[in-house]
Amino acid sequence: MKQDQLFQQMRWRLACWYTGAIGVVLVILGAGVYEAIVHAHRITIKQELKTVAGTVHDSLQPVLKIPGKLSAEAIYFLPNLCLANTDCMLPDNSPDRRMGAMQQGQYYLQLYTLSRSLVALAGIKPEGLPQSQQEIIADRTKNRYIQTSLILQTEDGRDWGYLQIGRSLKDFDDYLRMVGLILLLGVPLAVIMIAGIAWWLARLAMQPVYQSYQQIQQFTGDAAHELRTPLAAIRATIESVLMLPNLQEREARETLQKIERQNQRLSDLVADLLMLSRMDWQLSLNSQQQLKQEAVCLQDLVSDIAEELASLALASSITLGAEIRVRDRLEVMGNAEQLYRLVSNLVINGIQYTSPGGVVMLRLERDANYALIHVEDNGVGISPEEKAQIFDRFYRVNKARSKNRGGFGLGLSIAGAIAQVHQGAIAVESQLGQGSTFTIRLPANGSNRSKN
Ligand code: ADP
Repeated sequence: MKQDQLFQQMRWRLACWYTGAIGVVLVILGAGVYEAIVHAHRITIKQELKTVAGTVHDSLQPVLKIPGKLSAEAIYFLPNLCLANTDCMLPDNSPDRRMGAMQQGQYYLQLYTLSRSLVALAGIKPEGLPQSQQEIIADRTKNRYIQTSLILQTEDGRDWGYLQIGRSLKDFDDYLRMVGLILLLGVPLAVIMIAGIAWWLARLAMQPVYQSYQQIQQFTGDAAHELRTPLAAIRATIESVLMLPNLQEREARETLQKIERQNQRLSDLVADLLMLSRMDWQLSLNSQQQLKQEAVCLQDLVSDIAEELASLALASSITLGAEIRVRDRLEVMGNAEQLYRLVSNLVINGIQYTSPGGVVMLRLERDANYALIHVEDNGVGISPEEKAQIFDRFYRVNKARSKNRGGFGLGLSIAGAIAQVHQGAIAVESQLGQGSTFTIRLPANGSNRSKN
C-alpha cells in the first residue's frame, strides 16, 4: 500500500512538473503573441496617422496665405471645421477625397498659431482632451488617442503655425482587450487540459517503472526466502549437535556433511543469482558493448553435454541420447560457457522431470539462418497454464517436488536470459504426462561455416 502511495505521489509530481513547465511556456508564448499583436497594430496605426497628417499638411500649405489666419479656400478643404470662438461651419460635403480619412469618425485635427493658440478644429471632438504635445494622450472618459504635430508654412514660406492630427485608439484598445480576454481565458483552459493529459502521460511513464519495481520486490522476497531455507537448516543442525552432551566423531562427520550439502545449495543459489544479474546487465548493454564473443561450434557443444551429463542420466535411470542432423560445421557467435549452461540447464531439467526408464534426446538442426537445438523428453510434461510461467524467476510448477530435485526455479530464467543475450529464443511444446520439447533457436554464424 505504501509503494502505491509512493508511486501515486510520483505520478502527481510528474504531472505537476509537466503541467507547470508547459503552463510557463504557454504563458510566455501568450504574452509574446499579445506583444506581437500590439506592436504590429501600433506600427500600422502610426503609419496611417503619418499618411493622413502628411496629406492634410500638403493640401493645406498651398492655400495658407497669412500666418495664423485661415483662408476661405483652406476652410473649404476641411470637413466639420470649427473655427475657434465661433459657431461650427459644416462644409461636410468637402469635395477633396484625400480628406476621406478625416470623415471616418476616428480623427481630429487642430490648427494652432505659432504661439500655440487654437485657430480651428475638425473631425471628432474628444471630451476634455488636454492640450499636449505627447504622442499618446487620454480624454476625460479615459479613451486614448495617438497624435502627431507638424509645422505649417504659408505658400510664400513663412511659418504659419502648427497642425496637430490625432486618432482615437478606441477600436485598437477594444481589440486588444478582446485578445487579452481570449488569452486570459484560453491559457488557463489549455493548462487544465494539459494537466489532464499530463496525469494520463505520467501514468504511462510510471507503469514500466512500477512493474519493474514490483518484479524487483518479488525477486528480492523470493531470493531471501530461498536463502533462508538452507540457512535455517544449517542453524538447526548446528543447534541440535550443540545440545548433545558428548559428540562422537561419526555424528560430527554426519553433521558436517549435512552442513556442506546446505552450503552447496547456498553457493548454487548465489551463483544462479549472480548469473541472472550478469545476464540482466548484458541485456541492458547495446550490441557494441556486448561481452567478448567467439564462434562456438554447436556439434561440439551438444556432444560434450551429452557426454558429461550421461552419468547424471544413468543415476536417474534415464537414457540420454544426442542426434546431430547437420553435416556442416554449425557455429554461433557467443559465449561458450553461457551456451553450455543454456543447453545443460534444459537437459538437466529433462532428466529431473522424467521418470526412471524415460528418454531425453538432444537434437541439433539447422533451419535457414538459425541453429535449432531440441531437448526432448518423455517425462511429466507441463500443463498449458504453467507453460507461460515456467520462465519466470523462482517459478516452480510443483514446489515440493522441484525442491526435492534441487531446483530453485531459476534454471529456465537463466536459460531464457542466455538465449536472449545471444539474440535467440526458447520455445516449449509439452503435453501433461507425455513429455516436453524445448527448442533453442540461435542465429547461425554463416560466415564461419566450413566442411567437417
Ligand atoms: P527448477 O529449478 O524448479 O527446475 P526451472 O526454472 O528449471 O526451475 O524450471 C521451472 C519449472 O518448469 C520446474 O519447476 C518444472 O516444474 C518445469 N519444468 C522445467 N523443465 C521441465 C521439463 N523438461 N518437464 C517438465 N517440467 C519442466
